[in-house]
Amino acid sequence: NESSSTDKYLAVNSSNETSNVSSIEKKVADLLSKMTLEEKIGQMNQYNGFWDLTGPAPEAGNAAKKYDHLRKGYVGSMLNVRGVEDVRKVQKIAVEESRLGIPLIIGFDVIHGYKTLSPIPLAESASWDLEAIKVSAEMAALEASAAGINWTFAPMVDISRDARWGRVMEGAGEDTYLGSKIAVARVKGFQGEDLSISSTIAACAKHFAAYGFAEAGRDYNTADIGTSTLNNVVLPPFKAAKDAGVRTFMNSFNELNGVPATGDKYLQRDILKDKWEFDGFVVSDWGSITEMIAHGFAKDGNHAAEIAANAGSDMDMESYLYVNELAKLVKDGKVKESVIDDAARRILRVKFELGLFDDPYKYLDEAREKEVTGSKKLHDAALDMAKKSIVLLKNENNVLPLKKEGKNIAVIGALASDKTSPLGSWRIAAEDNSAVSVLEGLSAYKGNTITYAKGADVVVGEPNFITEIKINSTNKSEFGKAIATAKSADVVIMVLGEHGFQSGEGRSRTDLGLPGVQQELLEAVFKVNKNIVLVLNNGRPLAINWAHENIPAILEAWQLGTQSGNAIAQVLYGDYNPSGKLPMSFPRHVGQVPLYYNYKNTGRPSLPGPDVVFWSHYQDEKNDPLYVFGHGLSYTTFEYNNLKVKNLYKNSKNVTVSVTVTNTGKYKGKEVAQLYLKDEYASVTRPVRELKGFELVELNPSESKEIEFTLSEKELGFFNNQNQFVVEPGNFKVFVGGSSKAQLEANFKL
Ligand code: BGC
Repeated sequence: NESSSTDKYLAVNSSNETSNVSSIEKKVADLLSKMTLEEKIGQMNQYNGFWDLTGPAPEAGNAAKKYDHLRKGYVGSMLNVRGVEDVRKVQKIAVEESRLGIPLIIGFDVIHGYKTLSPIPLAESASWDLEAIKVSAEMAALEASAAGINWTFAPMVDISRDARWGRVMEGAGEDTYLGSKIAVARVKGFQGEDLSISSTIAACAKHFAAYGFAEAGRDYNTADIGTSTLNNVVLPPFKAAKDAGVRTFMNSFNELNGVPATGDKYLQRDILKDKWEFDGFVVSDWGSITEMIAHGFAKDGNHAAEIAANAGSDMDMESYLYVNELAKLVKDGKVKESVIDDAARRILRVKFELGLFDDPYKYLDEAREKEVTGSKKLHDAALDMAKKSIVLLKNENNVLPLKKEGKNIAVIGALASDKTSPLGSWRIAAEDNSAVSVLEGLSAYKGNTITYAKGADVVVGEPNFITEIKINSTNKSEFGKAIATAKSADVVIMVLGEHGFQSGEGRSRTDLGLPGVQQELLEAVFKVNKNIVLVLNNGRPLAINWAHENIPAILEAWQLGTQSGNAIAQVLYGDYNPSGKLPMSFPRHVGQVPLYYNYKNTGRPSLPGPDVVFWSHYQDEKNDPLYVFGHGLSYTTFEYNNLKVKNLYKNSKNVTVSVTVTNTGKYKGKEVAQLYLKDEYASVTRPVRELKGFELVELNPSESKEIEFTLSEKELGFFNNQNQFVVEPGNFKVFVGGSSKAQLEANFKL
């Protein structure tokens, strides 16, 4: 009986009268009282998977040391051990060989699925469908938990306004309001109603904080932002995740205003643990405690451990510093034992909540793993999410949807046959070539003749998660075949964009155009056939001015995961009417970034006179994006009317805004109705407009629906520079419509 050895720490009686919470607190306190300093510090130590678990345990070297620590109870968590068989091996050692038998919490980057992948998070965010996003996280938890995982390092809730940053693929885009709603949906999806159920996993809001504000979009770079941006833009999605019950936070690699986030007491203790009363734990980012030395913030490893522990980083991911230095630091009086107790208590609390103490093997069920992994239910959900994530950017002359019969269709682009790139980055457990390609998806429609030509490779060789990508920047040897194929076609589908590993961690770019010779390929094909549908596969906004000027139809298909090709085919053929809206602005030129819709007006917002230069603009490009935040078309059209504002603020602190949306086209379709607010003047300048409400409505042709938004103090207020949340009297404007360019407007006064 595997769990019998766990009884030793379950000596505390949990009386039926006490609530679950207080009984957990009692159990934690009892266990803590039995632990040595080294064992408590052990809980704060997280190791990466440490030896080939198929072989015998190592006798020497780093792996042997980690193995020894595991037996001694000096390891609280492991990451990147996955699969029931392997997890069982390490869990068994922790539970059966260590003195107190405290189970490990097994962490993994379940970012957009485990083996069966959903779209990358940025793509999912384009659905604006909170229920679907929640279900997607639920499915990820289902599959990952069946592989023995208890904890995901997701959601990433970093707001970013800079498409050069490769990790925009992992977030919800540029907007704080949308990002906060999505953060909640994801946390609830991963964690479910009850963390102790074996199909749910603990979530982690990361990276705390301001990682998405890396200067110049260069990963890990300095972030330097003021109080207003920190409070109003960066922190709210973290707060929303906390309020939704997220059990862990991860700090981040960057420094913020001169202090590495990992060593930032203001962020981790003053804000997160004191002000927000967060009672879960904070894990460092990978090696980020050690990185404080390179930052120039810590003298050496000992100093780094002291700073991180005192600042509130509870668990050390792969710096080896807590396990090596903390006991010494306590003895030297540099870290109080109460700091260690607090960290260990937080970590144990989450382990109890996960039910790991009731049964440390509850996640380890081979039969369940077999049944759940890659099941139909997961694939169906992934397909549903993929369709909802697609954004129709442009559709002139109703090129789309495609006719189902009698056409010659040329399909061009290496990405059309690619079964790996659509998986995107952060797919550690998913196998190469496991996505449905566009060509495979199209083959389900038999009425047309499809001819494929690659045209050009996106990258050279077979990229992986870690090594630098080499772009094909010269080889045009396949252009001729592609041009010949396009010439005789009725319509050309070009699948262009980024390789799946061109975005993600460490994947910053200075050029936001189509990589390599793809732009030349597009222009060469256009010369012989103008009837092109451009399908984009990418992990970030791209600058595609030329395509917008020339190509009649453009579909943003991101990296849609395992079911990618099926989703794209169904949208191209009109079996699914696209309803996605951009969660990030698409620039005209990389020189515009950081670019975002909720910017602030300057004192010189517009041209003071004909040809006078002294206003805030570029001499060689427009100010506005090519495709604005919230943009996305449908095969049908929508109209907005009857905007009405009811100012109930004096009585109920609410303002309600209603509008009628009508489907004015020929297809049934879904629309994301969006409400934007402008506070016309305030003690801290406010953006030109900010998203403060949205609703997804589905309408038949000619059908109308009245929808109502409620603006409460939460939507009407903001943080001033004294860190106070205030609603200030004054003039406000609301705008409602189908994008951040919404034209219908009304005024009210508070
Ligand atoms: C990333 C984290 C991730 C961690 C573990 C780091 O490099 O920044 O987001 O969770 O690795 O894989």
